Amino acid sequence: MKHRDEGFTLVELMTVVLILGVLVMIAVPAFVNSRRAAAETACLANRAVVSKADFSYYLQSGTWSPGIASLVGSWIKSTPTCPESGVYTWIDEPTAEQPLRTLGCSVHYFPVKSLTPLGSTFSEISRGMIERMLAYYAKNGRWPSSRPPASYTDLGLTAADWAKAVEHLNYTPGGTKVSVTPEKGYVITVVDVKGKTRTLKAGEQDIFYDAKTAKWYYKEVNKGNVVDIATIQVQPAKK
Ligand SMILES: [Zn+2]
Repeated sequence: MKHRDEGFTLVELMTVVLILGVLVMIAVPAFVNSRRAAAETACLANRAVVSKADFSYYLQSGTWSPGIASLVGSWIKSTPTCPESGVYTWIDEPTAEQPLRTLGCSVHYFPVKSLTPLGSTFSEISRGMIERMLAYYAKNGRWPSSRPPASYTDLGLTAADWAKAVEHLNYTPGGTKVSVTPEKGYVITVVDVKGKTRTLKAGEQDIFYDAKTAKWYYKEVNKGNVVDIATIQVQPAKK
């Protein structure tokens, strides 16, 4: 019976289609991933080239280039573009000590800038100040100055960096304490040692860490005023 050899059976065709489908399912994501990785690598290489060219420009002229376009010709062949249409911007301010700038890409490299030299969150900032206060004591045998701006300087900080509230909180180190007050229009709420919620208003009340007892308090150092600092919240003041 020659008849059977004239074509594929339905089952055979379906098997072929199924196998092709599986192959596509495996190959497409792998292809997309490798393309993405290639674009990322190309973008990184672009940015490294521009950073180096910018640095060379600085070394030769003593000033920073006004933009990437001004590097083209003398330092780089053409304006580099991100393979995935990212926008390039400098993400750090150059200084005489550190003139090598870092180029960021809106698609591939956009690190979030920290709000202060100690970090951005309450726990990062308060921990940073406390650690510096303890380090100062360990080194000098006395506590830092009790008043700003010297109290900041003693901790290796710049008072001007702390003139404005950070996420609605003001931080003031002084002597054995790190004091935190809410910005005008905001309140701090925190649960005290007895489980009662304390609300602290701007301009009049603070919570503070006391290095001698290694605890957080509201109002003053007193057993009843110890607070559970993990419960701290900042809210807009009710009108
Ligand atoms: Zn990019």
